[in-house]
Amino acid sequence: MTAAVELKEVKVLSAKYHLKDSFTLEVARQHGGYSQIDKAFGMEPGDIVEEVKNSGLRGRGGAGFPAGMKWSFLPKDNDKPVYLAVNSDESEPGTFKDRQIIEKDPHMLIEGIIITCYAIKAHDAYIYIRGEYVAQARMLQNAIDEAYEAGLLGENACGKGYRVDVTVHSGAGAYVCGEEMALLESIEGKKGQPRVKPPFPALVGLYDAPTIINNVQTIASVPYIIEHGAEGYRKFGTEKSAGTFLFGISGHVEKPGVYEVEMGVSMQEFIDKLAGGVWKGRKLKAVIPGGSSCPVLNAEDVAKCTLDYESLMENGSMLGSGGMIVSDDQTCMVRNLKNLLYFYQHESCGQCTPCREGLGWMYKVVADIEDGKGKMEDLDLLLSIADNVEGKTVCVLSGAAAMPCRSHILKFREEFEEHIKLGKCPFPK
Ligand code: NAD
Repeated sequence: MTAAVELKEVKVLSAKYHLKDSFTLEVARQHGGYSQIDKAFGMEPGDIVEEVKNSGLRGRGGAGFPAGMKWSFLPKDNDKPVYLAVNSDESEPGTFKDRQIIEKDPHMLIEGIIITCYAIKAHDAYIYIRGEYVAQARMLQNAIDEAYEAGLLGENACGKGYRVDVTVHSGAGAYVCGEEMALLESIEGKKGQPRVKPPFPALVGLYDAPTIINNVQTIASVPYIIEHGAEGYRKFGTEKSAGTFLFGISGHVEKPGVYEVEMGVSMQEFIDKLAGGVWKGRKLKAVIPGGSSCPVLNAEDVAKCTLDYESLMENGSMLGSGGMIVSDDQTCMVRNLKNLLYFYQHESCGQCTPCREGLGWMYKVVADIEDGKGKMEDLDLLLSIADNVEGKTVCVLSGAAAMPCRSHILKFREEFEEHIKLGKCPFPK
């Protein structure tokens, strides 16, 4: 286990959150909003890409792919337009950090978009926001309107002689549209079903043109990197997981919410100190660390984990989107899994047979166990279905269901067996 970084709240992305009307252009500008535009436009686009590469910034949507490296995959000789798509679909259960950026500091995101567009030589950016974020889409549009009125966006963005146009595109409630290829299909007005990768969108993306897709938090981190340089950003976090992260925490804790900390802090301390510990004085049973598609951890694992990509991976899970879901010792893990599988089978787009058929099947088997109608052989059946859906489909949605399924059974097998033996749910105990 690596030594944990000291736990304290830091203010990189959340610096303006405490200010009254922090979402307005006036307040944003009074507190440094758009102050990095001059510096960025004084740099060569390629130098910005290098700076972001050297900062170690990794994609905050879940996969943790190095952002600068992704930008550098754009074709060098290209006669098509380049697009930027900002992924604000944020539909992973337990994930609600991008929503805070939009509600509290949308201008930091817009500043990040302007700088990124210049760096990747794009003129058109789309923000794809989940359909359920109705109020947030309105807030985002208001901020964009303010930026246009002030000349920060448009034909001559920020007076730099460079066009940047931003369009908000609302989804219609499908989780799969957060998957980058489905997101592009949806912007193009087609049914939101993923396309096969490769080719990756950096080469063949929106309207078959090179497209960079980054999460809201990733793009909102760019102005800080311009201001403080790669080294300034690397002062936070660990060597391989640099910077800060807006971690969300929900479930059975006293103080659920979003907290910005450096990467590499202890997960246990985060739960106990920032989130106020497990509620009602109960004990910790489990944590799903980074949105519901990550393998579940038991209390022993949690004590070993630090909040960075490497530690979570070493301990059999993933950092994902950084949205922790905490379960106390009165939680029925069979019911937990049933709820998750209900979600995934409902959200399968139906394009691939293993996902369309397998997820519903897994859900029915778990629902039967929870209902007291399970058989011991169902446990091996579930593991076998999980193995046969994951990696057999166009996108990772099937794997997102398989991972929690497999880990719930492996880590909490005795609870599943108890349900089967008793013929009913033993909770509350
Ligand atoms: P991925 O690892 O396939 O790709 C990550 C990114 O890197 C993509 O943008 C991809 O295009 C790019 N990339 C990877 N290899 C490349 C290459 N060789 N050339 C060019 N570009 C390349 O992961 P993914 O399928 O995009 O995302 C899966 C993650 O999404 C999961 O880890 C999950 O945690 C997360 N997720 C998040 C939410 C949310 O609400 N935030 C919802 C569902 C899933």
